[in-house]
Amino acid sequence: MSSTAICPEWDPINKDEWRGVWVFIETLEGEVNEASLQLLNPGRVIADKINTELVGVIVGHNVKQMLKEPIYYGADKVIYVEDSRLSIYTPEIFAETLIALIRRYKPEILLAAGTLRGREMIPYVANVLKAGITADCTDFDVDVKTRDLIMIRPPFGATLLAHIRAPNRRPQISTVRPNVFRLPERDPSRRGEIIEERVDIPEPRIKLISSQDIRVEEIPIEKAEIIISGGRGIGSPEGFKMLEELAGLLNGVVAGSRKAVDAGWISHERQVGQTGKSVKASLYVAVGISGAAQHLFGIREAMTVVAVNNDPEAPIFENADYGIVADYREAIPALIEEINKRRSKAR
Ligand SMILES: Cc1cc2nc3c(=O)[nH]c(=O)nc-3n(C[C@H](O)[C@H](O)[C@H](O)COP(=O)(O)OP(=O)(O)OC[C@H]3O[C@@H](n4cnc5c(N)ncnc54)[C@H](O)[C@@H]3O)c2cc1C
Repeated sequence: MSSTAICPEWDPINKDEWRGVWVFIETLEGEVNEASLQLLNPGRVIADKINTELVGVIVGHNVKQMLKEPIYYGADKVIYVEDSRLSIYTPEIFAETLIALIRRYKPEILLAAGTLRGREMIPYVANVLKAGITADCTDFDVDVKTRDLIMIRPPFGATLLAHIRAPNRRPQISTVRPNVFRLPERDPSRRGEIIEERVDIPEPRIKLISSQDIRVEEIPIEKAEIIISGGRGIGSPEGFKMLEELAGLLNGVVAGSRKAVDAGWISHERQVGQTGKSVKASLYVAVGISGAAQHLFGIREAMTVVAVNNDPEAPIFENADYGIVADYREAIPALIEEINKRRSKAR
């Protein structure tokens, strides 16, 4: 069924008027968001295949010192809007600014990171432009003849991969989960065009009355080098205290499976997997986690996986570099004791 049949009010578009691959580059407190820069990796491949330019788009306040970064990571150009009204993030104003740029330049593809901000404002953009969106993509291809982007993502609850196209809409919009693509090599010798744009920023309907910083005690799991992750096998919040002790000794952080999140033992922002986060830790210790496909999806980029499980048949062992078949209530204290022993000897 074509999209015009689903939404008869959508005007037909002339695909030939739309050219270029855009990556929306998020910035926060003077820093470029790494998950956005990662998208310059697939963006570059797609742009080269359809022989078009790769553009990084930045909107915000005090962004000038960051404009070259997307070029260093592979963009041909950066288009930006610098405006004090963008000093505080509200989804509507950021989305409206991006929409104004899209209407002006007509890019055929827009990629954005599936961060909190991306998940909030990009569906708004897609809705206003009546373009549709494929969220949480994990890979891309492109049909060189039709210039249709093939947006690849796991469908809910299955191990298959769905290949999604939007042949009658432009821009083709996708969000991508952080850490699925590697950061491209940074090359400060790269040169590219930087274009400043001005847009009429509308009065926001949402007014910020006050804001409060939430203290984040730990490094986000997607940035952690060492992760001790617990599953349903942990059995209780007290069990997680043991994992925290081990994580503390190793300068790591604690994460969990969806079952551990559902049980309320750990917060959703620490969930690893398809509907949680993808991690790229050097060491991932999976404790009391069976190794379901949706969990394994989140640890594809982890370097060394150690599994602790009392069931020798648990599928996690097939995906682990090292396995300990044991009750975690014995294995984890033994590990803690051994680390402490070796450290006191080394002193
Ligand atoms: C659409 C969809 C999305 C999903 N997204 C995610 C996701 O993002 N992340 C995710 O994790 N899951 C996700 N799931 C759920 C996933 O399918 C599994 O149900 C889940 O990962 C299982 O969690 P678990 O391994 O903690 O629990 P279980 O599968 O119940 O495994 C518990 C393990 O603990 C072991 N165990 C028990 N007691 C002990 C003990 N004392 N010592 C040592 N080992 C012990 C058991 O042998 C078992 O292997 C998703 C499912 C769907 C349908």
